[in-house]
Amino acid sequence: MADAPSPVGYLPFYSRETDIYALPELVEHPVDAAYLRELGVSVTPSAETLAGLERGSRIFAQRFRERTLLPHTRFRTGSIDPAREEPEIHNYTGRCPTLTYEINPVRGCGVGCQYCLVTDGVHEQPLVALENYHLYVRRLLDEMNGPGSENANHYYYFSPKTEAFQEPTLLTGIAHRILREFIDHFRRCPQSRARLFIASKAGAKHLLVEDGGESVLDLFAQLRGRMQFNTSVSIMPDAFRDLLEPYAAPLSERLRAVTMCRERGIQSNSALVQPIFTPWLSDEHIKAFFDALHGAGIINYKPEFLTACMENLSMLGPLLGHFDKALERQLYEDYLLPSNADHRKQRGRTAPDRALSRESIARMSRYTDTLGMSVSVCYWVRSQLGITEAEVPLINRNGFQCLGYQSELFRDVQ
Ligand code: SF4
Repeated sequence: MADAPSPVGYLPFYSRETDIYALPELVEHPVDAAYLRELGVSVTPSAETLAGLERGSRIFAQRFRERTLLPHTRFRTGSIDPAREEPEIHNYTGRCPTLTYEINPVRGCGVGCQYCLVTDGVHEQPLVALENYHLYVRRLLDEMNGPGSENANHYYYFSPKTEAFQEPTLLTGIAHRILREFIDHFRRCPQSRARLFIASKAGAKHLLVEDGGESVLDLFAQLRGRMQFNTSVSIMPDAFRDLLEPYAAPLSERLRAVTMCRERGIQSNSALVQPIFTPWLSDEHIKAFFDALHGAGIINYKPEFLTACMENLSMLGPLLGHFDKALERQLYEDYLLPSNADHRKQRGRTAPDRALSRESIARMSRYTDTLGMSVSVCYWVRSQLGITEAEVPLINRNGFQCLGYQSELFRDVQ
């Protein structure tokens, strides 16, 4: 990969309200045994868990001092060799029911989520936007769904390892070029059963960015029937979200993006609800959140609890504690039980206590059932929590499975 030498600065489309660096109390106390005791945490974590938390606190304090907690709002452009790029199959659990290829046109991510599943919340690496990534997408579509392979049911996931519609992909036209590759592919191969799965934190402003006179939304409209736009949102107060997802659109703007998609006939009625912070999951918050989703026309959601390595948890705890120490205490209670230490998702990220996770899904479903919404869960969650097909069918009554893949998308497009 050859990188251009000079970085390009940009103004994020949505500004943050809170400056994380103006909150020195976040790094005043390391999260160690004494801190947990003082906070009133009743569980006793293992020595290994404590060592991870303490290590995380040291890293957090250092990154705070060096002001490297958030990504820099600048990127470099780079390129790849489209012929040599290795196709990546999206299957973290080893048991996914779909064959899905990943589309990741940026190294790093400009959104800067402090819980990021890809980087464990570390955003020090330079952002590199891959200018010619669409040529790899062209090759991938040709190889997997081109002449002779049109009948293969494949999803293309844009983007699991970065945000598809962030300033670096929009200002360079990279996102537009990738969408145009899909449009051209379907012109060449109208029978192709390639389907574009988008999971994104984009707000309305992102989808309105134009390149060559066409907005992202205009290009989506040309992919109607062959793509879905799943918003990614979480149940948390706005002020907390602002700290956790510093350069993402607020919830209202993400829901506006959903509505705009549906107004253009684009499948956009399923949400990835992540990361769920269990201490915040009161009945009142469940109701307010899902009422908002329902109001925007969402009929399905995939709940995903926060998973975090201990180093990341000791950064997220004080961020939550900034709003409410009782919530911070509860966060540690939910994650640190030694019996929960093996409840780990990819790359050693710990999920909350299994019984609590089951009960939380049941509580959300009880309410969302009243709104007519369905739930889909990934295979890993299903197997860890013992969720049966009777409770959550593999393909639910609205046709969704797993991450929120819509099985009906594979019907022939007229
Ligand atoms: S948008 Fe996704 S990839 Fe980007 S920082 Fe947030 S969690 Fe990570």
